[in-house]
Amino acid sequence: MWFAKNARDLPWRREPTPYRVWISEIMLQQTQVATVLPYYARFMQAYPSVHELAAADEQVLLSHWEGLGYYRRARSLHAAAKLIVADHDGHFPLKFEDVLALPGIGRYTAGAILSISNGQRQPIVEGNTQRVFSRWIALRGTPADTINNRLLWQVAEKMLPRKDAGTFNQASMELGALICTPKTPACDQCPVAPACRAHQAGLEQEIPGKVTRVTYEDRTEYAMVIEKPVAENLSGPKRAKRSGNSERRFLVRPLPEGGRWAGLWDFPRTTQASHADVAEAATQLSAEVGVNLIPGIRLTTVKHAVTKYRISLQVHLAGWREKEESPGKPWKFATLGELAELPMSVTGRKIVKMLSEDSQRLLTM
Ligand code: SF4
Repeated sequence: MWFAKNARDLPWRREPTPYRVWISEIMLQQTQVATVLPYYARFMQAYPSVHELAAADEQVLLSHWEGLGYYRRARSLHAAAKLIVADHDGHFPLKFEDVLALPGIGRYTAGAILSISNGQRQPIVEGNTQRVFSRWIALRGTPADTINNRLLWQVAEKMLPRKDAGTFNQASMELGALICTPKTPACDQCPVAPACRAHQAGLEQEIPGKVTRVTYEDRTEYAMVIEKPVAENLSGPKRAKRSGNSERRFLVRPLPEGGRWAGLWDFPRTTQASHADVAEAATQLSAEVGVNLIPGIRLTTVKHAVTKYRISLQVHLAGWREKEESPGKPWKFATLGELAELPMSVTGRKIVKMLSEDSQRLLTM
């Protein structure tokens, strides 16, 4: 009743096919609804079914994901779509074990897809329901602890109605998102307040128990902007005067498998360790690029965070002197126009923006 009156009108709720619910659930992992909405609309337009997604060009697919973060999700979607076409004739599987076997899908996501799109009696526990259920049963301790987590899954299963489990699951999540919020639960508007033990005991602020906070580590990383030399014998880090955007080409590569932002394109940059100074970073990057890099002036500093690291990315101009040296594959020089089309990390995109503005200035000088 409460859900029927208060549910937000979200695009994946209008036509909850397994495919549409799957895409929405993956996009919503670690990401706010408001952020997901425009991405979801564009993604559905580009890939309206499993078949189009399976046949997608990975670079184009990553471009659709650019800015949403956690790019492994997009790659798992692609791999799972190919499997669905190969093993299930392009029909999203409806057996729990088959769904769970797909890349990027865990117990929660499988349960959400099958209950919401197919009404199957599958429990779910995610951030919102974890908080709501913890408060309903006044669970002391941290929900992430193994024993507490197991208990919450049992609670979620016991509470499921015989019919229309999908509506119950969505209502529980919506209650957590709109009413039973982390800091200020609106218990006076809550439809389950009479049965909520935390509320009855006045413990809604203490439950759920706090998880240990992440301790952030400061790290300095370096990126090099290397422009394709126009002079015959100098590849050094000097900024040559250009006549326009189209002539400027910058060295980039797709980031390797198994590392941060795999598959996205980026400028030469360090990602694995903090470096004492730009010279030390240049030594490491020289080995990766295959030329002896000479770092030049610092262009800018980009601050960002990745997992537990607070990163200060120092962006330098760089070049090399030996004219017989040149970067091999997978490195390539790309124009600003080409860079606009390539899927890039957020920091890589910021550097492209800076270079584009720089080129505009050169054009008007
Ligand atoms: S009564 Fe308060 S604490 Fe309990 S479920 Fe409702 S909003 Fe959450």
